[in-house]
Amino acid sequence: ELILETVDLEYSYPDGTSALRKVNLQVQKGEKLAILGSNGAGKSTLFMHFNGIYRPDSGFIKYQGQDISYKKKALTELRKKVGIVFQDPDSQLFSASVWQDISFGPLNLGLSEEVVTQRVKQALLDTETTDIEDKPTHLLSYGQKKRVSIAGVLAMEPEIIIFDEPTAGMDPRHAQEFMQLLEKLSDEGKTIILSTHDVDLAYSWSNRLAIMYRGEIIAHGLPGELFSRT
Ligand code: ADP
Ligand code: ADP
Repeated sequence: ELILETVDLEYSYPDGTSALRKVNLQVQKGEKLAILGSNGAGKSTLFMHFNGIYRPDSGFIKYQGQDISYKKKALTELRKKVGIVFQDPDSQLFSASVWQDISFGPLNLGLSEEVVTQRVKQALLDTETTDIEDKPTHLLSYGQKKRVSIAGVLAMEPEIIIFDEPTAGMDPRHAQEFMQLLEKLSDEGKTIILSTHDVDLAYSWSNRLAIMYRGEIIAHGLPGELFSRT
């Protein structure tokens, strides 16, 4: 079942840099999609379209079959459906304490205090951060910040979660722990998109893979197809 789709999506930055060129990508509900590409390939720019922060110059974005590319209200709705965990957790944490930070999003959605509390507790459990719920965010270690930034996205209960270069700079043990968390989210039925320049990670984790190069999707398919060694 198709959940998100781009059709001939094009985007240039105000300085003229062409970042996306006729990007056609389909995201299936519940899948593990890896987007592989080197720095500057256009992965982050694509993600900013996936949750409605950027508007395309041309082409379309469809969510569950509906064209929403140029509809302001629908783009705002998209922000609730698609959560992005950015590479740098410091760009995502801005409240004084862990609990406040995780509850910020759900409170903003206008949910009742009871529901917000429930969601924050669940997000703390999922990211194994219950023990630091009262800690000031500025005192967290890098790994803890990363977890809390993920918890903040989980508490919004998005349909699709995007992880931008999640394991960049992590040592193997932390990277493995992180991948276990991703497995758990997949098992719960979440649709997960992950960007990486790590070929091994993309190949072993994903059930579908897109390769981006200079603003274009140059290959798209099953990992086994794209990397067949015959
Ligand atoms: P990736 O996430 O794959 O590293 P990006 O989407 O960040 O790639 O970048 C795609 C292209 O857009 C690159 O050429 C990059 O230099 C350019 N770019 C990114 N952000 C900006 C910006 N704010 N202004 C101008 N060009 C940008
Ligand atoms: P924890 O407190 O959860 O053990 P750490 O803060 O020690 O976490 O680091 C978690 C992981 O993040 C480690 O793999 C470490 O190499 C990596 N890391 C730490 N600081 C940075 C940073 N500034 N940028 C990218 N990765 C980092």
